[in-house]
Amino acid sequence: MSEITSFSQLALPEQFLSVLKELGYESPTPIQAKAIPLLMEGRDLIGQAQTGTGKTGAFALPLLARLDLKRKPPQVLVLTPTRELAIQVAEAFQTYARKLHGFHVLPVYGGQGYSLQLKGLGRGAHVIVGTPGRILDHLRRGSLKIDQLNAIVLDEADEMLRMGFIDDVEQIISGAPKTCQMAMFSATMPVPIRRIAKRYLKDPGEIKIASRTTTVESVEQRYILLNDNQKLDALTRLLEVKEYDGVLIFVRTKSATTEVAEKLEARGFAVSPLNGDMSQAQREKAVLHLKERKLDIVVATDVAARGLDVERLSLVINFDIPHSTEPYVHRIGRTGRAGRVGKAILFATPREKGMLRSIEHATNQKIEPMRLPSTRELAQRRAELFKERLLHTLANQSLDFFREYLEVLKQELNMPVKDLAPVLLYLAQKDKPLQVEGNMHEPKPLKRPEPAREITSKKFERQDRDRNRDRDKDRDRDKDKDRDRDRGRDRDKDKTKEDRHKDKGKVKDKKRGHDNAIKFDRYRLEVGKKHNVKVSDIVGAIVNEAEIESQFIGDIRLYDDYSTIELPEGMPKEIFQHLKKLHVRQKKLNLSLI
Ligand code: AMP
Repeated sequence: MSEITSFSQLALPEQFLSVLKELGYESPTPIQAKAIPLLMEGRDLIGQAQTGTGKTGAFALPLLARLDLKRKPPQVLVLTPTRELAIQVAEAFQTYARKLHGFHVLPVYGGQGYSLQLKGLGRGAHVIVGTPGRILDHLRRGSLKIDQLNAIVLDEADEMLRMGFIDDVEQIISGAPKTCQMAMFSATMPVPIRRIAKRYLKDPGEIKIASRTTTVESVEQRYILLNDNQKLDALTRLLEVKEYDGVLIFVRTKSATTEVAEKLEARGFAVSPLNGDMSQAQREKAVLHLKERKLDIVVATDVAARGLDVERLSLVINFDIPHSTEPYVHRIGRTGRAGRVGKAILFATPREKGMLRSIEHATNQKIEPMRLPSTRELAQRRAELFKERLLHTLANQSLDFFREYLEVLKQELNMPVKDLAPVLLYLAQKDKPLQVEGNMHEPKPLKRPEPAREITSKKFERQDRDRNRDRDKDRDRDKDKDRDRDRGRDRDKDKTKEDRHKDKGKVKDKKRGHDNAIKFDRYRLEVGKKHNVKVSDIVGAIVNEAEIESQFIGDIRLYDDYSTIELPEGMPKEIFQHLKKLHVRQKKLNLSLI
């Protein structure tokens, strides 16, 4: 098949193409280009890709295209490890299906009351997106039937395994029709995931989004961890405080190029969008103006900036993280030209940390975190620039008219210059106030309280990196080990899930055995076997409610009326208090340090 570079090559019905156009998607991401044709044909699929690659569209679009809207029972079931992902995926379906009249999607997850979900299920939905535990509950209650499903998607399968959901997942799959089309997405392919693939997927197409290894030595790379709604504030602050020559900002969609450019323009920057909707002449003009310093900033999509060669570009800002490592390498290669050192700053949301690690791997460079300039630095910078402007104006502008006018003002208002001057200063800098504190909208911290982020960024992330490195090694080793593990598998079958989780904890502990390993504290939880609690319930509650990622949860043991859990040493008080109040199976965790 020739290379797919446009959505129109994908045989998607017209109404989807027009939605994609409205969304400003320029071209399919690599996983979409490969997965959509396969899924449209009705084939099964294994996709090795992580969040941020466009994988939701890769399965949502073809499965939506194959729906029969007249049929009421659920036709597609998507299983996700967390409620956030369930909501996100359901929203993506809703967006892509905005021109399919009568279409319904329903997210179903733990932690939400049953009545709303029962109502939704009663009404009927073509697509159900849910976490395994709650889906299984509804199957047992009979409130959800999956005997007429056409397709099942396992999203972030390795994360579901890590969270202890894999038995639930298997139970759900085995209750679906044997003819069901299946797609499985996973960033890594550990043995139990492959086993499921082998058992349930029929001649699946396999797609792996390869990462290319490149060295980008002339570019100093940094990242800032933030949420989507903080990006614009962060961007304007960076642009105001950091000294730069030309700046190239990358966003994901054509519409975002104009949105971001308009917002920057309103804040006084000399900026232009650069996207495929602009005519060739308009694009050439933008690039020329950038070269001639009539513009300082260009906001572009990957496609529009392809081949852009402007020597004065000293900073590339990745406002949206790219879908794969390759565009990242192209993006930052726009700076650091002609023997200069360029800078690249990447905005990454917490969910995109996996892609951040892949980028580090692909560029062979560690990307260090950076902090946003403080309000104090911003105030200093504004004051400096103001003084420069003042002196420049004094030297270059005839001011006789203004001197006379000041005399008029003094007399008319009966005010001395010392009272008038502060008002004039205030008015002159209204758009960029010299007094910043209390004026500037500080980007709010991420949802998790500050101390927890400290742990995440220092210890947890180091652990994350180690894990990724281990994962890569594991992947290479996996092939050889498959045979041995297959032998052990039958033995494993007899173990309970809790036993397996314990085993997993042990493996993790072994990995933590090196110098910069995470240290754990052990806590007691006031829920146990007699409350029908499962390991996955505890993991699910902690991941969803306290936003502690599953890889930072150590060994969990269930006893009759209590259980124990290992969590990273030195848990901040706020998180501890929050966890204490959590409920699992209607019982308060009431955790205490042992
Ligand atoms: P995902 O990996 O599915 O979570 O997608 C990550 C982000 O990329 C989402 O915000 C999507 O809306 C966006 N996205 C998905 N496909 C495309 C595309 N072809 N072009 C631009 N943005 C996209």
